[in-house]
Amino acid sequence: DLVVVAIDGPSGSGKSSVARAVASRLRYGYLDTGAMYRAATWWCLDQHVDLTDGERVAATVRAMPLTIGTDPESPGVEVGGTDVSVPIRTTEISTQVSAVATNLEVRAELRRRQREIIGLVGRERGGVVAEGRDITTVVAPDSDVRILLYASEEARLARRSTELHGNASTANVEATRDQIVRRDRDDSTVSSFMQAAPGVTTIDTSDLTLQGSVEAVLDQIAS
Ligand code: C5P
Repeated sequence: DLVVVAIDGPSGSGKSSVARAVASRLRYGYLDTGAMYRAATWWCLDQHVDLTDGERVAATVRAMPLTIGTDPESPGVEVGGTDVSVPIRTTEISTQVSAVATNLEVRAELRRRQREIIGLVGRERGGVVAEGRDITTVVAPDSDVRILLYASEEARLARRSTELHGNASTANVEATRDQIVRRDRDDSTVSSFMQAAPGVTTIDTSDLTLQGSVEAVLDQIAS
């Protein structure tokens, strides 16, 4: 039967790369729920919706024609037939996504879609790895494996800085700090991903390579 692996963690914890690699190794489906909140933000901005207008934002997201790829080898994201895989990763979206993700009606809508996708893809492939901020606690609290990927703030900043700028020089880390710290603080108001909930296993990836983190998660799944 169906195996659900739920992985949560803050930005820069490496959860997307780890979750994707684990899904690939096990030939499971992969769901990046952060990409759905990012796509919702892109779609609202594309529709010229004022992000401070909560009701408009919620109505716009409910009508969003989103297709999220669940193949770990090529997890594309489309809205209304437009491939938004690249534009949803810009700094513009990263700095505005929390405004959309803290809207409770938006969360209810996207969680409903996430549960549906997890069920469908899981049955199709025998398993699914879903990652985000509230998967272990709210979206799929009855998952077979529940993991919180922890990483020290310094490790997370270095990773994100390298992703964005190609290196972790002091100047680039400082430029990244504000963005990451603010987003985690805003996101924490609606999800408790900074600390593991009861029954959730914490894996500290601060000193692990991507490969090491993948092995640690695979060990947890096998145990
Ligand atoms: O994981 P990623 O950094 O792409 O997530 C982007 C944003 O989506 C987060 O900063 C957060 O606001 C939101 N998010 C969320 N719940 C999830 C996944 C992501 O609120 N399960």
